[in-house]
Amino acid sequence: MNLVLMGLPGAGKGTQAEKIVNKYNIPHISTGDMFRAAIKDGTELGLKAKSFMDQGALVPDEVTIGIVRERLSKDDCEKGFLLDGFPRTVPQAEALEGILADLNKKMDYVINIDVDQEILMERLTGRRICKECGATYHLVFNPPAQEGKCDRCGGELYQREDDNESTVKNRLQVNIQQSQPLLDFYESKGYLRNINGQQDIDIVFTDIDQLLGGLN
Ligand code: AMP
Repeated sequence: MNLVLMGLPGAGKGTQAEKIVNKYNIPHISTGDMFRAAIKDGTELGLKAKSFMDQGALVPDEVTIGIVRERLSKDDCEKGFLLDGFPRTVPQAEALEGILADLNKKMDYVINIDVDQEILMERLTGRRICKECGATYHLVFNPPAQEGKCDRCGGELYQREDDNESTVKNRLQVNIQQSQPLLDFYESKGYLRNINGQQDIDIVFTDIDQLLGGLN
């Protein structure tokens, strides 16, 4: 079960990744997590990645491709893997084809959790935080009992600067521009499977599970 998971911020990619790897017992390979761990451990890779990550830029392809090649060669990937956050560029996707061929593996599916932009905006801008105690709420998914007031301490709720509409919109646009060429690439290869991410979390997973059930 060799998989890539894709989805825009707010689509629920992290939640579904966890469910997939738990059920199918395959490693969750997140390049972002690998870079963060390398930075924390102060390794050479961490040093290379840090300056790019701090600027919000992509780590260069040759570095990223190298760590993925190494990771996919490990024994625990024998029965499969779930790649998350990789590939992020078409050259990375092309390199992945080569890595898999070298390792005698083939891609099964690229699962894209599909959610309309307007709904992503609603999900991503809905977070509210209590000024007094820091409790977090969501206007749609976890609203406070009384509008604008913290359930716990009665403090005033506010929206963080980076959750505001224009910042979120910009972040989404950057992500869409980055991911569209990859979706086109995988569509043309026949690997792409779009999953409706505008359903209950469990139903989204049921759809993914049904798709993956066909692989065994
Ligand atoms: P993420 O946790 O996936 O959002 O990744 C956090 C950061 O790690 C990104 O902003 C990039 O700087 C870096 N990164 C993660 N995956 C990749 C990748 N496939 N290619 C380049 N940079 C990456």
